[in-house]
Amino acid sequence: MRSNRSADTRPELRLRSALHRSGLRFRKAMPLTAGEVRVRPDLIFTRARVVVFVDGCFWHGCATHGTTPRSNTGYWSPKLASNAERDRRVDRALTSSGWEVIRVWEHEVWNDIGASVGRVVARVRKPPSP
Ligand SMILES: [Zn+2]
Repeated sequence: MRSNRSADTRPELRLRSALHRSGLRFRKAMPLTAGEVRVRPDLIFTRARVVVFVDGCFWHGCATHGTTPRSNTGYWSPKLASNAERDRRVDRALTSSGWEVIRVWEHEVWNDIGASVGRVVARVRKPPSP
C-alpha cells in the first residue's frame, strides 16, 4: 500500500530527539503488519506495544489547520478524506492486533513539545496490565 508519509519530517525529528533525551528508546519506521494493513509507524516501542504517528496537519486533516485547498477541490477533498479514512483503518487494525496507537499532531509538536513527550512517556512507561 502506498503511503503519503515521507520519512523523517521535521516534526517527527523533533519529537524523536525530545523522546530520546527523556531516555526512551524506540525503533523508527519499522514495517508492521496488522491484519490486512501494512504500515510503518513513525516510532515503535516494541516491548510496550505502543506505536506513535506524527500526523501532518494538512495531510491528515487536523481540525485546526487541515483546511482543504480552495483550488482543485475535486482532487483534494477525496484525497484528504481517504487519508483520514486510512488513518482510522490503520488505528483499528493495530489496536485489534494488540498495539496501542498514539497520534501526535504536527502542531502539537511545534506548540508544546513537552506535552507531546508527556503523552508518549505516560503510555510507554505504564506498567503492563495484569
Ligand atoms: Zn494542526
